[in-house]
Amino acid sequence: MDWGNLMIKDEDFIKISEVPGPTKEEIRCLVICKSKVTNKDVVVDIGCGTGGLTVEFAKRAKTVYSIDLNHKAVETTIKNIGKHQVTENVKVIKGDGLDVLDELENFDLLVIGGSSGKLPFIIKKGYQKLNSGGRIIITSILLETRLEAVNTLKNLFLMPDVVDVSISKGEITERGTMMLARNPITIISAQKDI
Ligand code: SAH
Repeated sequence: MDWGNLMIKDEDFIKISEVPGPTKEEIRCLVICKSKVTNKDVVVDIGCGTGGLTVEFAKRAKTVYSIDLNHKAVETTIKNIGKHQVTENVKVIKGDGLDVLDELENFDLLVIGGSSGKLPFIIKKGYQKLNSGGRIIITSILLETRLEAVNTLKNLFLMPDVVDVSISKGEITERGTMMLARNPITIISAQKDI
């Protein structure tokens, strides 16, 4: 059996308290599925955090550019791409995604996990560099960014697919299996015309 295509467990990522992520396993699963990633794709991950999504994309795509403002996030992502042996096709860049986009080649997939108030600008600039048939995928935990993402995509005449995800995980206790809720997250995706 080829285990290479399975999701990595949350606890198998190196994690530090100052850096958010990794995106939880079940959410990574949906993001990968919605992204329709293939091994020919160039992926840009803005707000790579712990590197949870970066590593999953690196296992499936041709190249991944991982960008984060926070140097601790950059360091943690580098550790995780090393741990999961995907250093060869990942380039980690410290900087603001909005600025770094200017320096990149065109790409097939834009993943946005953090934007610090600049989401509409990142989407609009990213769209310019997106190959035809390319996808934009945004994971949103804030009410405001959900609306910004949907409106910006609609203004670009892209039809957003919006999925709200609320997951509870069972914790096995002596009394029984206690379901513990995780924070809701919205996955917003869209595809550029071919
Ligand atoms: N998907 C990641 C977690 C993302 S957390 C994982 O699976 O591990 C969001 C990250 O976005 C944070 O590390 C934050 O520093 C980064 N961020 C926020 N705004 C940014 C911007 N404008 N450019 C680059 N990174 C940004």
